[in-house]
Amino acid sequence: MPDKLANSGQVLVLNCGSSSLKFALIDPRNGNASLSGLGDALGHSAPTVSWKIGGDKHSATLKEGAKHTEVIEFVVTNILAAQGALLQDVSAIGHRIVHGGEKFSHSVRINDQVIRAIQDCVALAPLHNPAHLQGIEAATKAFPGLPQIAVFDTAFHQTMPRQAYIYALPYELYEEHGIRRYGMHGTSHRFVAERAAAILGKARADVNIISAHLGNGASIAAIQAGKSVDTSMGLTPMEGLVMGTRCGDIDPGILLHLGVRLDYCAKEINDLLNKKSGLLGISQLSNDCRALEQAAAEGHRGAQLALDIFCYRLAKYIASYHAVLSMVDALVFTGGIGENSSWIRENVLKRLRGLGYQINQVRNLEMRFGAEGAIEDVSDDSSSPKVLVIPTNEEWVIARDAAQIINGDDSPVPAPLAGGD
Ligand code: AMP
Repeated sequence: MPDKLANSGQVLVLNCGSSSLKFALIDPRNGNASLSGLGDALGHSAPTVSWKIGGDKHSATLKEGAKHTEVIEFVVTNILAAQGALLQDVSAIGHRIVHGGEKFSHSVRINDQVIRAIQDCVALAPLHNPAHLQGIEAATKAFPGLPQIAVFDTAFHQTMPRQAYIYALPYELYEEHGIRRYGMHGTSHRFVAERAAAILGKARADVNIISAHLGNGASIAAIQAGKSVDTSMGLTPMEGLVMGTRCGDIDPGILLHLGVRLDYCAKEINDLLNKKSGLLGISQLSNDCRALEQAAAEGHRGAQLALDIFCYRLAKYIASYHAVLSMVDALVFTGGIGENSSWIRENVLKRLRGLGYQINQVRNLEMRFGAEGAIEDVSDDSSSPKVLVIPTNEEWVIARDAAQIINGDDSPVPAPLAGGD
């Protein structure tokens, strides 16, 4: 492939949350980050910025109530300008945007129309999209004239067929209010599916992949010929797998029971399902998989139950995606849990032997100690499907999309394929 990115500068990747802002300066050719950092506790009494540059860690406290604008000003003035060469090298800003509704099926250059469309999706992501808009406004002030690119978590899943995204609810809820399944983590699923195709030595259009992104938030996607055809998150990131603090799939009748019989208000129900459920709710101990594995090994029954339910539900989803895809080339594990927990991988896969999965105990355990960034096949040679562990790199996808768009290629952007991690 001719490298259109050969002359690209660095891309400043921004991920704006309601009270946080992650930033990274990424080389789109290889994903290397020359700078990465986090603005935290934004809008609170003592907001902080911490960052890593050239292997050194730094931190600073911002003035009371400082928000995204102040963090971006700080990044420009106190970090980038202090390293003059870096500032000159920034060629674009890439924004992670959680919800693009049905309006975006790939990454786009930000203009007034795109901003209005992101505003239109605020109802679908009330915590995230307003923060992204603040980030875009702040970046526009700090980098006037520099191209800004929006990369949507939902975009990759816009290829899902209607049978996968329409809920069995009155149809007017979809038509009038956009209530349907959208899916999230699309940037990560796209990245690992592309890498998996490259590892398997096949064209993207020739592989079927099941991608399990298992972090504090978790989702799974069925990817046919490189395109998402189903995924476990829905209208919101609450649907699907058991997560750190989110419940995943539950009987919707429970909401009525909580509201009508137990007098929970909407906010209490939201807190319960989003923040107090999942691994934390079941174990009554922690949302952190590593801590739960340790506690379970020491005999904590709640921790063991939480991990067992996590694996059981994940295995059921994987099996159901075999029905979606008919033929599966590889299952990919990614995200903090997927990349690091050999225990979870083993306990999911031992339920799936009937589907042809053969985990290789040695490869799976060694993966735990593997070099950072390693891409591993943890299945036996005879396993079909293969089982791959691929570290995700959403920032690289965002940087790459941004660089491709500013280099004049506005076509749907494939994820990077070659080396560099
Ligand atoms: P993420 O949201 O992708 O950063 O993933 C966070 C999750 O990954 C937490 O539940 C961590 O406990 C889990 N995790 C990270 N490292 C390990 C590990 N070595 N073993 C098990 N879980 C891990």
